[in-house]
Amino acid sequence: MNVMARFLVVVVSFLAMELVSYAAHRWLMHGAGMVWHRSHHRSRGRGWEANDLFPALFSLVGFSVFLLSAVGPRWELR
Ligand SMILES: [Zn+2]
Repeated sequence: MNVMARFLVVVVSFLAMELVSYAAHRWLMHGAGMVWHRSHHRSRGRGWEANDLFPALFSLVGFSVFLLSAVGPRWELR
């Protein structure tokens, strides 16, 4: 893969992640996840809050994707 293609992968990945972040906050956290997310908007400033469960949940999704990429079928970009 040439330098320009690698650059495009970085830019497209960044833009896709921003869209996913927006969508997750807009429709997941302010939708079905509002039970956890409400604590973020009414934060008392110290300690753990229910909203902190989201990063834990999202990290499990990320870990699963990394695990799948390690043990799953190989994809190669050329
Ligand atoms: Zn919010």
